[in-house]
Amino acid sequence: MRTVSWFSCGAASAVATKLALSEGEPITIAYCHIEEEHSDNARFLKDCEKWFGQEIVILQNDFYKGSIYNVFDKNYMRTPSGSPCTRSLKKQVREKFELPTDRQVFGYTVEELHRVDRFIDANAQVDVWPILIERGLTKEDCLGILANAGIDLPMQYKLGFRNNNCLGCVKGGQGYWNKTREVHPEVFKRMADFEKEKGYTVLKNADSSPLYLHDLDPKAGHYPSEMAVECGIFCELAEQDIEAGK
Ligand code: SF4
Repeated sequence: MRTVSWFSCGAASAVATKLALSEGEPITIAYCHIEEEHSDNARFLKDCEKWFGQEIVILQNDFYKGSIYNVFDKNYMRTPSGSPCTRSLKKQVREKFELPTDRQVFGYTVEELHRVDRFIDANAQVDVWPILIERGLTKEDCLGILANAGIDLPMQYKLGFRNNNCLGCVKGGQGYWNKTREVHPEVFKRMADFEKEKGYTVLKNADSSPLYLHDLDPKAGHYPSEMAVECGIFCELAEQDIEAGK
């Protein structure tokens, strides 16, 4: 039996991994690499490896060379039932690595208790160790624990993003994309040009017609009040529900 901790280059998964290691059991630490994440994630991962005293196994979907653009080249970017990038670059990679007997550590915090409960109800076969919830830890607590450990947060947090997703995440709203235009103009341009080339878009107008990033009003949206974008096991679960018509 293995215990696998899913490290995501986020603060919570780093603290969950450290706590699991502190229990004295051997832990396999795994990370699904995506090309479009911030380059500072490589620094954060190395800092965490030192903190853990152990290497992290880096996984990737080689068919798509770990890139969301290679996924979008062959699929749409967003469908009513979710994003093909999450499925191809995270879910499939995780499933390929998983063993049915694995115990799995996910970095979910007490704010996410109801979602963990729901996940466990729907996936009785998956042995989940919700270690942050057992310890009553919040996202803020995890940020504090990393700061106390002297580990600099990943750059995306410092730039004011609320998660450490890909730069230019296709699940972001208008405010998110305007923030991306301001902070990472090259990322905005790449996606805007890609949309024009392919003829499909990340954003939609209120009447569901396509809204090309090139046409996005720079004042549209308000990033702080938009829903936080998730790209992990819970959004996979939500997508499964949508596909099943639940
Ligand atoms: S973070 Fe966004 S763009 Fe990246 S894989 Fe997840 S949903 Fe796709």
